Amino acid sequence: MSKKLSLPAQIFIALVLGIVVGLVCFFGGFASLTTNYLKPFGDIFVNLLKFIVVPVVLLSMIDGILSMNDMRKVGTVGIKTVLYFLVTTAIACVIGLVFANIFKSAGLFPILDPTGAEYEAKEFSGFMSTLVAIFPTNMWKSFTDANMLQVIVISLFFGGSILAAGEKAKLCRDFVSSAYAVIEKLMSFIIGLAPIGVFTYMAWVVATQGSEILVSLLLVIACAYLGYIVHAVLVYSVSAQIFVGMSPVKFFKGAFAAMIFAFTSTSSAATLPVSKECAAELGAEDDIAAFVLPLGSTINMDGTAIYQCVATVFLASCANINLTITQMIIVVVTATLASVGTAGVSGAGMIMLAMVLEALGIPVAYIGLIVAVDRIFDMGRTCLNVTGDIACSVCVTKWEGKKK
Ligand code: ASP
Repeated sequence: MSKKLSLPAQIFIALVLGIVVGLVCFFGGFASLTTNYLKPFGDIFVNLLKFIVVPVVLLSMIDGILSMNDMRKVGTVGIKTVLYFLVTTAIACVIGLVFANIFKSAGLFPILDPTGAEYEAKEFSGFMSTLVAIFPTNMWKSFTDANMLQVIVISLFFGGSILAAGEKAKLCRDFVSSAYAVIEKLMSFIIGLAPIGVFTYMAWVVATQGSEILVSLLLVIACAYLGYIVHAVLVYSVSAQIFVGMSPVKFFKGAFAAMIFAFTSTSSAATLPVSKECAAELGAEDDIAAFVLPLGSTINMDGTAIYQCVATVFLASCANINLTITQMIIVVVTATLASVGTAGVSGAGMIMLAMVLEALGIPVAYIGLIVAVDRIFDMGRTCLNVTGDIACSVCVTKWEGKKK
């Protein structure tokens, strides 16, 4: 009897098949077939993931808080998690800036003519109003808008209140754990379809992105990917080895399915169910992973930070602006904040890039120069974002475990 292939193996095969089919369609001149007949299946799959993301984050976080059974533990886990996220994101910014400056100084970045570049930026309302907007006025609206920061706040309040209500909240507690068990079943069913999503999206990307613009921006893309890889090797390998005592090979092997899935779906939120399986496989404690991963998929975006730094230096050079040290520091701060504010969905990092450019006085319309290849940047940055979330859940488990 043949043994059923593991999910990571299935996903890997789907990835390779997707590339092969994509290349055949690209060179055979029928790329539109992938757009018309393959991508829709990927879309169905991502729609399914999106439809469960609000209940997954809500129930997973409340369930995590209830399992910790103590608001002080939630507090220490929360502080460690946010510190890990912020420090690694700041390191990501520095890595992104270093590589971008090396590429720029070596004359490797193309100088594209920004005249006529068009991009309509979203209005940013400033730090204080953004802070105010995290607190919901209408819970149902937060759910229907899938406003994940608000969903996280709602989870924290409900989780804390159920704990505080003690015995009287038993029914609520049971309801959360029962509803979460149902959602977990639903998740595993949808994840079982992941190879279809990976195959169809990969074939579509490979078949349709082989345009001229891709060639002209190849070195900018290479710079971002170099940053992603160095960050993964440096920060996550070191985290795994030093903080957890786990070999980097074991860590990346365990995180592999989520990494590939993030790479093809370009959504940290959609990858959440797969990340949870990987984190569990790597030994992350259930309640900690249930808390850290939804939070990470919303606020922890190391790949996005690297992308924003590389794109900023590149677009500044197209605008003939040489960034000073002070401006670089502004980039680190704004890109860290922008990445926190980036939603875990496809393309969100590019929308938030406008915030970094605005802070430096670079016209946001210049984003139009890179918009066509955003998906290629997005694949790598989402892969890194998700890996960072998994690394954090494993580290925090270890840090919490040590205390016992
Ligand atoms: N797609 C990324 C994610 O979901 C966010 C981004 O666009 O940078 O993590």
